[in-house]
Amino acid sequence: MGHLLTDVEPVGLLDHFYKLTQIPHPSGGERAICLYICDLAKRHGLEAIMDKAGGDDFGNIIVKCPATSGYEKAPTAVFQSHLDMVSLPVGHSDVPLDLLLDGTMLRARGSTLGADNGIAVAMALSLITEPDIPHGSLELLFTINEEAGMTGAIMLSDKVLQGRILINIDSQQKGTLTVSSAGANISILRMPLKMEAVENGLMPVLIRITGGRGGHSGLEINSGRANAGILLTRLLYGESKKVHLYLNNINWGNVDNAIPPEAGAVVLVRPEDLRIIKDAVQRWEEIFIKEYGKKEEQLRVSLDEDLPVPDFVMNNTTAERVLSLLLVLPNGVHKMSSDMEGLVETSSDVAKVRTSRTELTVNVSQRSSVDSSLDAIIDRCEAVANLSGAQLKNVGTNYGWKPDMKSRLLAVCKDAYRQTLGEEPRVVGIHGMLECGLIKAKYPDMDVISMGPTIIDAHAPTKADFIPGVDSDTTGERIDTARMPGFWEFVKTVLKKIALLEMR
Ligand SMILES: [Zn+2]
Repeated sequence: MGHLLTDVEPVGLLDHFYKLTQIPHPSGGERAICLYICDLAKRHGLEAIMDKAGGDDFGNIIVKCPATSGYEKAPTAVFQSHLDMVSLPVGHSDVPLDLLLDGTMLRARGSTLGADNGIAVAMALSLITEPDIPHGSLELLFTINEEAGMTGAIMLSDKVLQGRILINIDSQQKGTLTVSSAGANISILRMPLKMEAVENGLMPVLIRITGGRGGHSGLEINSGRANAGILLTRLLYGESKKVHLYLNNINWGNVDNAIPPEAGAVVLVRPEDLRIIKDAVQRWEEIFIKEYGKKEEQLRVSLDEDLPVPDFVMNNTTAERVLSLLLVLPNGVHKMSSDMEGLVETSSDVAKVRTSRTELTVNVSQRSSVDSSLDAIIDRCEAVANLSGAQLKNVGTNYGWKPDMKSRLLAVCKDAYRQTLGEEPRVVGIHGMLECGLIKAKYPDMDVISMGPTIIDAHAPTKADFIPGVDSDTTGERIDTARMPGFWEFVKTVLKKIALLEMR
């Protein structure tokens, strides 16, 4: 029976994609799609190995796809995609997708499309079902749960892959080849707080910074955006030199991987100092707006007096230590790459701060494409913790993927790109994490590249009442099917060129 994409080129690839969209596969819910892929491999007489990264009965899959006749001597390549998709809106994760074509643009009505990373999965399945595509021996690696913590790639065994060439199809910008991604770590600092009773007559105020642009702490760390928490700390630190500020709490950030757009602190002041602090709030707003200019036009500093008097405040020494710690922790870009122009090599984001009755907790998220540089910035946080009497614990440490501009695979891909698409690709690194970076850390001698067709608004749903030809400019994950044949040709050319490489 035909479907929406039956006659759309490349026919085999889009047929696989269509079938994938009919099997719900949100992050964590990949069991059905895992079974589908293992079954498809088996029906084509191929070996499929599945680990237990997702639970007792599903996980990452490796399908071993032998070389096409004549290319048996080529080096084995790993062809990688991830099985899960960001399934939005909430409540939509267990129904087949309702695909629609708006001209040549493919979307899913009322939901995300899952082109990230379904197109790549469909390419891998085409390699299973289309015997006339020339390639050397392949390991088709399908990982799970990329979108919700990359736990599949993290749990992948470091002994299961034979290939030492890895092609990852999870970049979303056609025309670019990605050759570097960041490693990451989160340092959690805990500092005990000494509190005391509140003196009579003090007035509580809530000072807030709001309206920051925030954003992903990897991808946006170099875009000149403000960490609202650090600005608030500067204000409090500066003013505490003029008036006595009694600090009750300071809090910001909800997640570890974002630049905090807002922050707040409750402080108590003597009635005669209230005017001074109100003026200060205004003055600091002007200072921040001047410093950040067009990068942060919505920044606001506000003061709210309508608060109940809290039972306790930090004692002087503690408050001073808290503000000093927050001010000196590394925040922002630490070092730019010396291998690649414009790439942030190492950064740190003071992402989250919480105050309880007894303890201050600070989550600092560091990233680097260079392992020793990641270690160095973690050590700096540890040194600051030591000086301020805080304890530090590191979690989620993963090393990065450093660019290798002399990579043989990169040369092959550039060549194939010129040949099939007639233009020079841009070679880029990203300061976020990629699964292939995690895999590279397990297989250090692997030659790795990441590429992909353009996906617009990945992870964003298309509205349910979308009208083709009318709502074309509205948000929603989509791909241009007209550009798919060219990209698929490029990928096949890369595989063919690898098949012609000498073993090394
Ligand atoms: Zn993806």
